[in-house]
Amino acid sequence: MPTRQYIFFYAMDATYYLVGCQEETLMPKENDLEQKALQLIMNSGEEGLLQSELWRKMEASSREGSRISIKLEKKGLIYRERELSNGRWTYRLYSTRQPVSIDSILTCPCLTCEKSIRCGAGGRISPNKCDLLTQWILDSIRKETSLTGDN
Ligand code: SF4
Repeated sequence: MPTRQYIFFYAMDATYYLVGCQEETLMPKENDLEQKALQLIMNSGEEGLLQSELWRKMEASSREGSRISIKLEKKGLIYRERELSNGRWTYRLYSTRQPVSIDSILTCPCLTCEKSIRCGAGGRISPNKCDLLTQWILDSIRKETSLTGDN
């Protein structure tokens, strides 16, 4: 468990006197736990993660863990699917988002563009006015929506 140390000084006539020190154990903030849980779920990729595995990895109680997963689900960051595991009903947790892969930008025209050195927001050559980039973004969105079936 991380700790924070305080050292108290008393100042008089430009001289500092050590008065005492105190160590405080820092309890993880709820957001830190949510962030950690989300990271673990994201890292599990398409396979997802059983709730019990998550609590074990986080060293959290099942009650605490359930509360966090419900919160993450309400925020739309994960979704849960019921699953029978070792004869008991539980949930498998999946992230609604996946880490960005470098593959997603490999075809971006900026990577091989000879104007890139002179290109910048607000300049004569700018991503805001670039047909090549606009077309690439539109194609990427079209490809993504045809894969997910959204539109
Ligand atoms: S935004 Fe257009 S001009 Fe600028 S670097 Fe990318 S492809 Fe080149």
